[in-house]
Amino acid sequence: MAGREVFKTTLTEIIQETPRVRTFRLALPSGSPFSFKAGQFVMASIPDFLNQKGRPVRRAYSVASSPKDLEKGYLELTITRVGEGGFFSNKIHEARPGDTILIDGPYGAFVLQGQNEPQPSRYVFVASGSGIAPLRGMIRTILLEGRNVPIELLYGFRHRSDYIYERELSGYVGTVPDFTLVTSLSQGTFSTLDDGASGKDGSFGRWKRLVGRITTLLPDLVHEVSDAKVYICGPPEMVAQTDSFFRETGFPEGSVHKEQW
Ligand SMILES: Cc1cc2nc3c(=O)[nH]c(=O)nc-3n(C[C@H](O)[C@H](O)[C@H](O)COP(=O)(O)OP(=O)(O)OC[C@H]3O[C@@H](n4cnc5c(N)ncnc54)[C@H](O)[C@@H]3O)c2cc1C
Repeated sequence: MAGREVFKTTLTEIIQETPRVRTFRLALPSGSPFSFKAGQFVMASIPDFLNQKGRPVRRAYSVASSPKDLEKGYLELTITRVGEGGFFSNKIHEARPGDTILIDGPYGAFVLQGQNEPQPSRYVFVASGSGIAPLRGMIRTILLEGRNVPIELLYGFRHRSDYIYERELSGYVGTVPDFTLVTSLSQGTFSTLDDGASGKDGSFGRWKRLVGRITTLLPDLVHEVSDAKVYICGPPEMVAQTDSFFRETGFPEGSVHKEQW
């Protein structure tokens, strides 16, 4: 059996998203055959970072950017520093621009509906914590490909300071028609708890800021069964509860897709 192909990338930029989360922008050499579909993950490793058996330490990370970004020569991984006990995530948080990061893949069947497939009436994304990473890649893809389909993002995180991609996501509310952003804090409070529409005539995106677990808020946020495509990503318990909610509400099995870690 042929060995997996390992691609050498160069870390070009590090974006501090929250105190514990960084986005690593990895550049591929021009003409690299690496490709992926929005939502998939890669296995990342660091040269000479080996386990006790002398093998590379490899960890799975969802690609947080879009295949459209790859046309510009880069992909992004958004990685939470686990802290105590976190082996690879702590190590990559020490990486600096210019360092080599190795990737292989892509892997996984958690994939955004293709541009040339029949489009749903809307896309619904439900994320908790760093589960936002592959969903951000999917949302970027829908927008960069100019698909004219409404997007709803329901995104839960613990504290106000854990808000990953805040600038990018809130920016969409002001610029993308039919983009709805619901953020929810499971702990703490937003300085303003509010909702509204960014355009005077309500034509631009809508936003809502709530407090509570996203799983318990779902019945208030999703009222009707439609031919939406639903993508869920987060910790196992959140994914299971969200998946059950959509199924019990009557969403057909093939319309709900999930990833957990
Ligand atoms: C498909 C997929 C996609 C993923 N995408 C992302 C992503 O986009 N972003 C992201 O941040 N993460 C993602 N992950 C998680 C990622 O792969 C790693 O699991 C994560 O970064 C932790 O790796 P680590 O080496 O730092 O921690 P590890 O060393 O693997 O440890 C993880 C946890 O387990 C505990 N632990 C380790 N060994 C033991 C032991 N022997 N006994 C008890 N507890 C132990 C540690 O204390 C720590 O809390 C994804 C996972 C999967 C499967």
